[in-house]
Amino acid sequence: MEKLILIRFSEIHLKGQNRPYFENMLLRRIREAVSPFDGAKVTRSDSRYFVRNAGWDDAVIEKICRVFGVHSVCPAIEMEKDDFSAICRTAAEMMSSVSGSFKVRARRADKHYPTPSPEIAAKIGEAVLMANPQLHVDVHDPEHVLEVEIRDRAYLYSMIIPAAGGMPVGSNGKAYVLLSGGIDSPVAAYMTAKRGVHIDAVHFDSPPYTSARSREKVITLARILTDYCGAIRLHIVPFTEIQQQIYEKCPDRELTILMRRSMMRIAEKIAVEGRGLALVTGESVGQVASQTIESLACTNEVCTLPVIRPLICFDKAEIMELARRIGTYETSILPYEDCCTVFVPRHPATHPDAASVRKSEENVDFAALEAEAIAHSEYIDLYPGTGEDPEY
Ligand code: ATP
Ligand code: MG
Repeated sequence: MEKLILIRFSEIHLKGQNRPYFENMLLRRIREAVSPFDGAKVTRSDSRYFVRNAGWDDAVIEKICRVFGVHSVCPAIEMEKDDFSAICRTAAEMMSSVSGSFKVRARRADKHYPTPSPEIAAKIGEAVLMANPQLHVDVHDPEHVLEVEIRDRAYLYSMIIPAAGGMPVGSNGKAYVLLSGGIDSPVAAYMTAKRGVHIDAVHFDSPPYTSARSREKVITLARILTDYCGAIRLHIVPFTEIQQQIYEKCPDRELTILMRRSMMRIAEKIAVEGRGLALVTGESVGQVASQTIESLACTNEVCTLPVIRPLICFDKAEIMELARRIGTYETSILPYEDCCTVFVPRHPATHPDAASVRKSEENVDFAALEAEAIAHSEYIDLYPGTGEDPEY
């Protein structure tokens, strides 16, 4: 008999022939998540994953709950399936600490097991009831459900902890998130990674207008994201010269849109170089002048990669709530300046005219400046849990 953690996965069951690919990817992600815990071992058996040698450690469970592709996590007992009376005794003992209504739900994955599921449930239910007068059966709306799964061995659990859901990271290509120090873009990165997309990040930095602290803030945000997204390469692009030239040579009301277009062009180049297949931003329709539908269209026309905007129809309050849940909010609200907040036009165009914007772009040698910015960009590799670990 062993205490272990049983892991149930989500949407993968929908994948027909690709299922082994998704399952192996998820196995890798779970192994990475528990790797900081000495001795913990992850195995797979038909449609379940198991973590052994970690008991029901809360810290391990919390880590696994953050792995995309995991539907739920259950602290379980594993035992030999042939000794049915031992299973009954264990079940009775497991339920001794609760009172009220209960039922037993049995699942027989091993179809050679002699007893059919309804009978397994009825017999174990009876044993639980006999040993626990504080309990009564309610099959329709029970307060407690004891799950019994008969596989290679028998598994018993009564707690199902909901996990992140989604698809395992890496199962769906790679995208580059434009990561500012704000509230929105980290949430956008999280949501895209949740669909199985590997995330790398691009940040535009404008020293000396932006400080070392604002750069540290973005690194911290990326590091928080690694807990969900796995390893992230964060590219930091010097953007000061481009901003200054736009500021000096272009109409004030087009500053933001010109800056956004330049960011998208640079991010796309970095993405293509790194075999990324899409860009991700934290934009939301109407949130600011640069995010009206006209502005978004004007920004979009400079790149050919698909731009994923997971927050496009979210209200700010909804985004903030998600940011709090994933743990990026407190860092995002630290009051350090961002390159977008330094060069803010007094009256930004809310309905930019694309032709006029293209014309203004002729005032600046963007091709040369952007190539220069890319050539001088740096990157930092960030890893889950341990931070920057070359051994990862
Ligand atoms: P956020 O909270 O993500 O900063 P925001 O509402 O402040 O978003 P903008 O400043 O208009 O919006 O930026 C829109 C999007 O452009 C951001 O969500 C992000 O994807 C990208 N972006 C803005 N500034 C930067 C930056 N300095 N580096 C990288 N990406 C940026
Ligand atoms: Mg911002």
